[in-house]
Amino acid sequence: MLYSIAMLSVHTSPLDSPGRTKDAGGMNVYMRELAKALSHHNITIDIFTRWTNENTPQIVQLTRNVRVIHIKAGPIAPVHKDDLYQYLPLFTRHIEDFRQDASLQYDLVHSHYWLSGIAGMRLADQWDIPHVTMFHTLGRLKQLANPNAPEPALRLEMEQRLVQHADCIIAATRDERMQMIRYCGATPHQIEIIPCGVDLKLFLPQDRQQARKQLGLESKEPLLLFAGRLDPFKGPDLLLRATALMQNDVQVVIVGGKLEGDKDLQQLQALACELGIGRRVHFLGARPQQELPLLYSAADVTVVPSYHESFGLVAVESLACGTPVVATRAGGLTRVVRHDETGFLVSRCPGFFAERLDTLLSDTTLYAKMSAAARPSILQFSWTSIADQVLTVYEDLVHKAQCLVAQ
Ligand code: UDP
Repeated sequence: MLYSIAMLSVHTSPLDSPGRTKDAGGMNVYMRELAKALSHHNITIDIFTRWTNENTPQIVQLTRNVRVIHIKAGPIAPVHKDDLYQYLPLFTRHIEDFRQDASLQYDLVHSHYWLSGIAGMRLADQWDIPHVTMFHTLGRLKQLANPNAPEPALRLEMEQRLVQHADCIIAATRDERMQMIRYCGATPHQIEIIPCGVDLKLFLPQDRQQARKQLGLESKEPLLLFAGRLDPFKGPDLLLRATALMQNDVQVVIVGGKLEGDKDLQQLQALACELGIGRRVHFLGARPQQELPLLYSAADVTVVPSYHESFGLVAVESLACGTPVVATRAGGLTRVVRHDETGFLVSRCPGFFAERLDTLLSDTTLYAKMSAAARPSILQFSWTSIADQVLTVYEDLVHKAQCLVAQ
């Protein structure tokens, strides 16, 4: 059977460059790669996102079966995600106008992040079709992980409402599923556990010295890598503090953010100087994902010091390139990194990170063992396998909905 899916991503587009702003990262990669992998099946996908740039055409064809459709809702300009709720009624109304004009019919709505979840709720009701949602980190969990940065009350309330409404919630790990049940009152049968994926053909190990040469990072010292959005929640400051405490002299590469006019990046630069490691820290800004395999391969260790990760694509990608990971013992990272086998999981404290990084860099036998175990440990996360699991969820829900109509 041919399925037609309406995917929703109000506040960020799968076409945005990951790592450049606080709003574009793993979720954008997830939507793009999942849609591409699903499109090998008998399925068409329209990904609806808010129109933020008048130079972007309304419809962008991603693959033969996948389109990104820009919907006018509020100004055609960037709007902070905390101010987007007010535009959701316009967003859903204009999607419906688009659908009617093109005489389309969708079989299922798949929404990403709570704002799209709310839009998905309305559209699924209106079209009388099933709704699958993904939170990509629950507000309540973010708040628990870092109580100093409270999440908007509206987000917490709406996530709760969404849990009551959605036909299916996809959680990345068993832990996340348990937390949805515990903190949001989700029912166990509502939640499917499907991990995130990695492009195994793109993320391949490369020769370290060659990679460094290509990147112009030819230092003899070990190299630590941070890659991702420069959101304080990702903890890049912790990596700098840990570096200052290490016994090994290392170089640090920070990939993410904008090299000009980025307050978070400037604060990290100031912190590196304050800690006396300014000359050893290299800020490269966000890099296209195609370049990341080179960066992971150039690095001795990738460091993921986040407060929490729903899954942690950077950790998976690094392991795919054969580079061990030292990460916070939190969320999906505990599923991705095998402690003592492919890296270390530690408490969020600079001293613990410094200690584990020193151990890993000083023990060549341990390092070789972890590096060899890294890629085989993540082969299960291919996008083909993830898309198959998501497709099964779609098929079950559409089948159930059709049986209901037939009764
Ligand atoms: N990324 C990228 N360029 C950058 C920094 C990050 O393409 O400069 C990508 C990276 O390859 C990964 C994603 O952004 O796929 C970050 O995902 P992750 O799950 O680690 O973090 P999230 O953004 O979901 O919190």
